[in-house]
Amino acid sequence: MDGLMRDPAARFLPYGRQAIDEADIAAVAAVLRSPYLTTGPAVGAFESALAETLDVPYAVSCANGTAALHLACLALGLGPGDAAIVPSITFVATANAARMTGAEIVFADVDPDSGLMGRGDFVAALARAEAAGLRVRAVFPVHLAGQCCAMREIAEIARECGIAIVEDACHALGGGYDPGGTVPVGSCHESDLTVFSFHPVKNVATGEGGAVATRDPALAGRLARLRSHGLVREPDLFQRAEMGFDPNGVANPWYYEMPEIGWNYRLSDIQAALGTSQLGKLGQFVAERSRLAALYDAALVPLAGAVVPIARNATCRSAWHLYAVLIDFAGLGLSRAALMRRLREGGVGTQVHYIPVHRQPYYRERYGSAELPGADRYYARTLSLPLFVGMTGREVEHVAATLAEAIGELAE
Ligand SMILES: *Cc1c(COP(=O)(O)O)cnc(C)c1O
Repeated sequence: MDGLMRDPAARFLPYGRQAIDEADIAAVAAVLRSPYLTTGPAVGAFESALAETLDVPYAVSCANGTAALHLACLALGLGPGDAAIVPSITFVATANAARMTGAEIVFADVDPDSGLMGRGDFVAALARAEAAGLRVRAVFPVHLAGQCCAMREIAEIARECGIAIVEDACHALGGGYDPGGTVPVGSCHESDLTVFSFHPVKNVATGEGGAVATRDPALAGRLARLRSHGLVREPDLFQRAEMGFDPNGVANPWYYEMPEIGWNYRLSDIQAALGTSQLGKLGQFVAERSRLAALYDAALVPLAGAVVPIARNATCRSAWHLYAVLIDFAGLGLSRAALMRRLREGGVGTQVHYIPVHRQPYYRERYGSAELPGADRYYARTLSLPLFVGMTGREVEHVAATLAEAIGELAE
């Protein structure tokens, strides 16, 4: 009990939060003093910096990660009559983005210990889609907690079947596909498009923000058009010459065309400047997250009977978006809700990533209740502990100690 009495000077530890320094603030202030708050030079500068970080030719910024997923679906031409395979353990936005185009969702199961969709889960979802007479056009591997899916294995099957691949890398900015991390997540060697979010809990923060990476110039052009009302301003793309050009063949200065409908999904220059400043620290951020994760691994060893880290994928370098553990709540006779409340009293914020999306009322109503035992088993045991840049080693120890006490108190 005593240990849970908090040091009055101790701060509450959320499961995740942004790390903003004076350089970030100065970068934002500089934009506020400049002529452009949106559609200015800071957006292009951020996209160039991001493309360089990801080692990919094109990075198209946008309003948030959900908009990035939606743009990816639109650029691929997903729509009614199509189906998309989405793992059930993800944020609802992954499935929603495909659904917003009118496509149907086929939920894939995941590994019960890592939460990642594997090759077998993908193949099983494909078989279910086929049995239901659905035409699968896209698959969305989700790099949960910062670890990446087995992209080569998934891509092999997807390519064979002519299925587009969109990686949801909202958790994985700064991670790598190989243990050495030399091939960055987002380099798109095994996918058509890779999507990122810059929500404050993610590895780089812009407030709200997102991006889509690709190696395909046609997809990049379409993404950029769709994010800004579907408008085209390049004279060589005009379809209505009599409106676009004067009698001498010179493009009219006011003219633009809308060959297809689009959205306003733009990132502002204010957000982009923050993004560029944050991106410069990404290596340092991931190193710090990785160091804290190693401290957690060590601090949790004495609790191994009750709490274990999620299974590690040794073939990738994690970006450490989340530090997620598995607790056998049922086996221990422990209520997750009671544990979360007790931890909160001890200054420790936790969260559950995620409720299986196929269990959400909207999707249950549309598709009935699929049997995805891996997703259910992962969901039943997962809990994300505080992990953010600026957290200290002592705070990691405080979390582990508070967890040990709370479990000792609450378990039957
Ligand atoms: C955060 C997140 C999104 C959505 O990003 P927003 O920027 O919040 O719209 C999508 N997928 C996953 C896996 C995420 O974590």
